[in-house]
Amino acid sequence: MCGIVGYIGHREAYPIIISGLKRLEYRGYDSAGIALYDGNDLKVAKTKGKVSDLIEKSSKEITKTGSIGIGHTRWATHGAPNDVNSHPHASNSGDLVIVHNGIIENYEGLKKELMARGYTFKSDTDTEVLINLIEDVKKKENVKLGKAVQIALNQVIGAYAIVVFDKNKPNEFVIARLGSPLAVGIGKDEFFIASDASPFLEYTKNAIYLEDEEMAIVRPGKEIKVRKIKDDSLVVPYVQELQMNLEEIEKGGYEHFMLKEIHEQPRAIRDTYRGRLLSNEGIIKMAGVEDNMKTFLNANRIIIIACGTSWHAGLVAEYIFEEFTRIPVEVEYASEFRYRNPVIYENDVVIAISQSGETADTLAAIKLAKSKGAFVFGVCNVVGSSIARETHAGAYTHAGPEIGVASTKAFTTQITVLTLMALRLARAKGTMSSSVFRSYLYELELIPQKIEELLKVDEHVKNIAKQYLLSTNCLYLGRGYNFPVALEGALKLKEISYIHAEGYPAAEMKHGPIALIDDRMPVIVIAPSKGHYEKVVSNIQEIKSRKGKIIAIVTEGDTAVKEIADHVIEIPDTEEALSPLLATIPLQLISYYIAVMRNCNVDQPRNLAKSVTVE
Ligand code: GLU
Repeated sequence: MCGIVGYIGHREAYPIIISGLKRLEYRGYDSAGIALYDGNDLKVAKTKGKVSDLIEKSSKEITKTGSIGIGHTRWATHGAPNDVNSHPHASNSGDLVIVHNGIIENYEGLKKELMARGYTFKSDTDTEVLINLIEDVKKKENVKLGKAVQIALNQVIGAYAIVVFDKNKPNEFVIARLGSPLAVGIGKDEFFIASDASPFLEYTKNAIYLEDEEMAIVRPGKEIKVRKIKDDSLVVPYVQELQMNLEEIEKGGYEHFMLKEIHEQPRAIRDTYRGRLLSNEGIIKMAGVEDNMKTFLNANRIIIIACGTSWHAGLVAEYIFEEFTRIPVEVEYASEFRYRNPVIYENDVVIAISQSGETADTLAAIKLAKSKGAFVFGVCNVVGSSIARETHAGAYTHAGPEIGVASTKAFTTQITVLTLMALRLARAKGTMSSSVFRSYLYELELIPQKIEELLKVDEHVKNIAKQYLLSTNCLYLGRGYNFPVALEGALKLKEISYIHAEGYPAAEMKHGPIALIDDRMPVIVIAPSKGHYEKVVSNIQEIKSRKGKIIAIVTEGDTAVKEIADHVIEIPDTEEALSPLLATIPLQLISYYIAVMRNCNVDQPRNLAKSVTVE
């Protein structure tokens, strides 16, 4: 799970690669490296740490000239994050270099074979095995680089997106993908290769996304030839015009991407509605649902598969779908589902949720569900992603690029898409009256505006955050629709501030976590006026009696909780089922401010990466 960038053409490669790596740091940032070819020599700089460390190191160690180069920002899978294990990796002869995103699962066996033939290894990575395997094949079979890569990849088990360069053939890259994304930007007499299109947006809008099991030889001035790795058959690539623009992937005046993305939520939700929520006509239209309406209406069960924050969105959807459509719903961690021989019937509908659309476990779970005959619907943010392509139908969240590793707008827009789906199906099934349906449409329309209002609590939240930044534990409680919001709130705090936090259904507190409560324990309770309000108030009393510090999220105008809680944050009133969209916002802000005040790297928390493209 890393970011790779390659440039081959007529410009200076170094600045393109460095700025590209910075944009891809969300994918991994424990080490970084670059290899440049200046027409004579291959110069490599690599280091543990971030792209900023690489800039410093390359200034000292290499001349930064050359119009061919490859770069990498790593999220280690095999071998500790250190200078030696950083990419690019060179072959034993020093002729070939590679950057790789993914895992070569059978690297140990291959390494033993290569060692028996005299190859030596400097790093502990699987990637160094692959580049030497390519070199070995090239020599043994006496073939060109493209063929050698193809033969080698046919011996490999695992996942990869790679760029390979041979300094003796300095007019081409060989690229390939299986399970990890790879985009090719097509310029005039130049090519850009990257894990996503962000590194080359200012140079070209024309791009090809390699599909799984495809490879290509990229030569400036020549048309790109894409082939199947397995059987060498030629594929006609689809050149698409990118819609993304540069402003969307920059910070726009905010200190962090996460804060920008929190504030973008009203806009993002409006974009999610666009063309779908048609209030004037009193309807919801979603192409992926309309086209498969029969399948949805015949569904005996909906199985939602996801990981992390998307799994929490799935849990919110469970409450919403069951309430609105009366279809039973199960929510599964993709990583568990894929390995546990689940019972799946042909009339099960599987909904897979993933921001990036590249989550390895979710992808594998989709493949499993498909193989058992289920209809699979994808909910992703990244257009053209693997999950979008792998599913039978789907709906994009249209949140725009999410760069902060801790997911914010992706979560609320996932809930939005799933709510729209549930409402559409409820009408089609007749499980919701038209007047109730209309009142939901009305309320949904107001949500972005209410979030705008809510975001003004910024200063108030900052003051609360200040008082708890030294906490070592934190409990989040919610009930019903807001139980998953409690889980998500706890995850946000853990991810970016490294404070241990647990989310619980409020009533479960007395079955264990209550033992943790003392006067140093902050407890964040989501207590909107609709939905088990009195019960939650009783839970708050129970915390108070044990001297816990209560931060309550309440509906505007609340009086009862205000009297007992240490702090309250008010959210606008809305339908109970829509309250997660509002209750989430202050929880995101609390985590953000606590993390900032603890001097944590908010956008790039330790050990994490944005899209988990390895299992
Ligand atoms: N498996 C490779 C490594 O550990 C690549 C990991 C990545 O995708 O960043 O170096």
